[in-house]
Amino acid sequence: MAQCSGNELMKEECENHEKCMKMIQAVLDGSATPDEIEHFKNNIEVCKPCVDGYELEKSIKESLKTKVSKVCCPQKTIEQLKVKIGIGLLLILGLVIKIKVIQEIFI
Ligand SMILES: [Zn+2]
Repeated sequence: MAQCSGNELMKEECENHEKCMKMIQAVLDGSATPDEIEHFKNNIEVCKPCVDGYELEKSIKESLKTKVSKVCCPQKTIEQLKVKIGIGLLLILGLVIKIKVIQEIFI
């Protein structure tokens, strides 16, 4: 059997997953008590399904947050888009110049 330090204590099954998920949601909402946060930190290191659940909840919350910030600051998004388009154009320009150089060398 392979010895995998760190993951040895990880539970594959959670016997109280529902309770864990409630705790995870409370922590992510910021409504958890210090005791709950402490318990969560101890638990998250040993409970694989709850780590997965936590990561999922966190990514959902983060994607919602970015959506909200996009709605409330459209100007910033437009500026970012302009910068991105500018970089894209520069890359295309660089590519065109490279192709021309290659053509001059080989033709
Ligand atoms: Zn759990």
